[in-house]
Amino acid sequence: KEEQLPAAKELAEKVRAGERKDLARAITFIESNSKSHYTYGQELLQQLLPHTGRAIRIGITGVPGAGKSTFIEAFGHMLCESGLKTAVLAIDPSSSISGGSILGDKTRMESLAKHPNGFIRPSPSGGTLGGVHRKTRETMLLCEAAGFEVILVETVGVGQSEFIVRSMVDFFLLIVLTGAGDELQGMKKGIMELADAIAVNKADGNNKPLAEKTKREFNQILHMLQPATKGWESKAYTCSAIRREGISELWTVIQEFEKKTKAAGIFEERRRLQTKEWLHALIVEQLKADFYQHPYVASHLAKAEKQAMTGDITPAQAVADLFSHVYAHDQ
Ligand code: GDP
Repeated sequence: KEEQLPAAKELAEKVRAGERKDLARAITFIESNSKSHYTYGQELLQQLLPHTGRAIRIGITGVPGAGKSTFIEAFGHMLCESGLKTAVLAIDPSSSISGGSILGDKTRMESLAKHPNGFIRPSPSGGTLGGVHRKTRETMLLCEAAGFEVILVETVGVGQSEFIVRSMVDFFLLIVLTGAGDELQGMKKGIMELADAIAVNKADGNNKPLAEKTKREFNQILHMLQPATKGWESKAYTCSAIRREGISELWTVIQEFEKKTKAAGIFEERRRLQTKEWLHALIVEQLKADFYQHPYVASHLAKAEKQAMTGDITPAQAVADLFSHVYAHDQ
């Protein structure tokens, strides 16, 4: 039986009115893998687009155990208390790969989840990482249209997910722990080059002096790297998420960043580039889906794989054969 969907305009207005349950409903359309929901979700987004873009978008990453959840709970709660509507989204790469979760249980962020200014949405599950990317980005826009002023996008430091989050946020925070110097050296330089700030967490108790030392070491390294954002010097700071120390200082840094990059036009320029990149990511995602769903590919891929694996033909030749059939009608 055909599902009766409300007029997109109607739901869009409800989302704008800021009702939590309407926002959650709108997100389910964005996240749904059904074609009619997808189309409806896009219609909804189109309606809401003029009301998006006003939040500050902050990405937060770090290895499991670094204290991301604890930090976000403390940071988000502080923002909510100061009257800022704050939404927390997550990109969990494992949920698309294995269906499991390394970001863990968001119910731990209890005081934030219960706060009238807070909203928490776990990572969309299933589908490709590209699909998760799209869904999170679009969910972010819905949250902005619903009046959220700060969006926190959390991800775990695995593979491509940091790059994906970097491509949708204004400010990127890397949460790290104290460790031996070697560990610092071994840290992926590429990740550090994404960060607008590094927070050395768990700077409390006996760990405090070591955290200060780690901060200095990170500052030395950051000094030698390409800045993540033109005109902004990324620095390391210490904090204790559990004691809620150093948290408001990081918010000051982010506000300073926003002021400075907006004044220099860098903030808007990055957003424009991000939108362009997103468009291209959607093209690639769509092409890939179309290719694999093509009837010829569906029926001949296994054979092509086998021929390539046995060395009968080169992988390039196998791909050329498949493509020549997929695009036969267009030529
Ligand atoms: P995540 O995996 O990055 O989300 O890390 P969690 O927030 O779950 O934290 C991992 C562990 O570190 C938990 O047992 C936390 O209680 C603890 N933790 C988090 N922040 C701090 C902190 O600032 N100081 C101390 N001492 N422990 C912390």
